[in-house]
This record gives sequence, structure tokens and C-alpha cells, in this order.
Amino acid sequence: MSIQQETVRSVHHWNPTLFSFTTSRSPSLRFKSGQFVMIGLEVDGRPLMRAYSIVSAHYEDHLEFYSIKVPAGPLTSRLQHLRLGDTLLVSRKPTGTLIMDNLRPGKTLYLLSTGTGLAPFMSIIRDPDVYEAFDRIVLAHGVRHVSELGYCDYITNTLPGTEFLGDAIKNKLTYYPTVTREPFTNRGRLSELITSGHLFADTGLPPFDADHDRVMVCGSPAMLTDMVTILQGHGFSEGASHRPGEFVIERAFAER
Ligand SMILES: Cc1cc2nc3c(=O)[nH]c(=O)nc-3n(C[C@H](O)[C@H](O)[C@H](O)COP(=O)(O)OP(=O)(O)OC[C@H]3O[C@@H](n4cnc5c(N)ncnc54)[C@H](O)[C@@H]3O)c2cc1C
Repeated sequence: MSIQQETVRSVHHWNPTLFSFTTSRSPSLRFKSGQFVMIGLEVDGRPLMRAYSIVSAHYEDHLEFYSIKVPAGPLTSRLQHLRLGDTLLVSRKPTGTLIMDNLRPGKTLYLLSTGTGLAPFMSIIRDPDVYEAFDRIVLAHGVRHVSELGYCDYITNTLPGTEFLGDAIKNKLTYYPTVTREPFTNRGRLSELITSGHLFADTGLPPFDADHDRVMVCGSPAMLTDMVTILQGHGFSEGASHRPGEFVIERAFAER
């Protein structure tokens, strides 16, 4: 694997289990909104690398990542101690299925995430091409506790005021955070909110329709299984490169 060294520019801890950080970005690293790269640290003289979705927009001069802190996780038990000026290893080859090319044209784009599965969608909701391609974008983020709603304030209060994309975001983006284990405006698992129709009633949109709706899903392996069953039940087919479809999925993490 070809690896570059980047320098950590900022670190933000959202709560005891989640943090995000930014690094420098080599001008030679190009990626599509929604893709992931391998990132890591040198441990005992060797690179220890893991897949990470890129949070930052493809046109920004830095890279941003959103990370879990897995207790005793080989990488994240170290990564959570990143400081300004530290070196982060970044692979040179971004990849992934959560890209617009893998979807057929449509009217409404649903971005359905749980946990750190929000990460690739942070890049996608800041891509002007997405607002050109779709009339509505619904970003749903499911978590257990309110403190796990990373970027909530940024999406709600900062993004609509940004210079170039603010109007498109105000007119087209609907953010739908939902929490399972604490009181909150929206409660429950995404799969259940979709099956019960609550998500559609709350956003004022009609139920899934494979003719017009396109869906990207990024979450736990269990959440992906549930969502694929629901989507296939509505006649959606999975897209891939050279064979665009009505939905695409990516694991937010792999079970080891
Ligand atoms: C395509 C892809 C994209 C990914 N993007 C991200 C990302 O943007 N941010 C991120 O934090 N992780 C992401 N991951 C997971 C990441 O690759 C590592 O697994 C994670 O950083 C933990 O590394 P570790 O070495 O500490 O523990 P690991 O040994 O890799 O993981 C140990 C266990 O922790 C659990 N786990 C790992 N990652 C997560 C997670 N994100 N959320 C909940 N449980 C988890 C799993 O049960 C796993 O078996 C992604 C994984 C894949 C396959």
C-alpha cells in the first residue's frame, strides 16, 4: 500500500467515545464525496491502518475524519491521543461504493446512517453536484445517546449559513437525527421509523418509491441487513460501478 504522511491540524472530542480530527491534505490525494481511505499510525516501526470515510468535502484543503474510540482497539486506543502536529498515515487510493456514479438519476436522495456511518455523508452533503442532481436530500442519523449526534449543531446551525452552499442546503437538505435510548425529538431505530412510516410523515415525503428515490446506507452490519431487506422489498436494486442502481451500501465498520 502506498502511504503518505499528513500532519494533524485539529482534534475535537465530541464525548468519551467519539472524536474527529483534521489533517493536512496532499494535493495529489483526490477523492469522490463518500469514499474512504486507509489511515493509521506507525506502531513498532510498521503502519497500523484501518478504513476511514472522509468527512471533509472534496474541494477542501484539509482532510477530516470522524472516529470511534474502541476500548483496547489496536488503532483507536492510540488514535484518540492524537495531538496537533502529530503524523497521520494516509493511503493514496480512496475507494468505496457510496458515490453518486453508482446511483441512477432520481429526485430524492436518502442518506441513512448509524454511528460513525455519518462520516461519508458529511462529505456528500457539502458537494454542490449532489444539490444539482437531486430535488431533496434527507440525511438521517441514528444513535443510542444524544451525545453521539456528532456534527448535529454544525449541520443545523452552521451549514445553512455557508456562503456557496447555504441556499441549496436551506432549500433541499432535511436533517433527521434519531435517538434510541434517551428522550429526543425523534426516537427509534431508522429501520423501524421507515417501516412504520414515521420518517416519511415527519419529513413530509411520500413512502419509498424506486422510480424516484435513491438511497445510500452506511451503518453497522446489522443495520445494513435490515435496510437491504426493506429496500429490496420496495423493489430497489443495489448499484455498483458500471451498473448504477437505486441504492448503495457500505459498512461503517467490520466485525472482527
Ligand atoms: C469501509 C469502512 C469505513 C470505515 N470508516 C470509519 C470511520 O469513518 N470512522 C470510524 O471510527 N471507523 C470507521 N471504520 C472502522 C475502522 O476501520 C476501525 O475498525 C476502527 O477505527 C477501530 O479500529 P481499531 O483498530 O481500534 O479496532 P478494530 O479491531 O478495527 O475494531 C474492533 C471492534 O470494534 C468495533 N468497531 C470498530 N469500528 C467501529 C465503529 N466505527 N463504530 C462502532 N463499532 C466499531 C467492531 O465491533 C470491531 O469488531 C470503517 C470501516 C470500514 C470497513
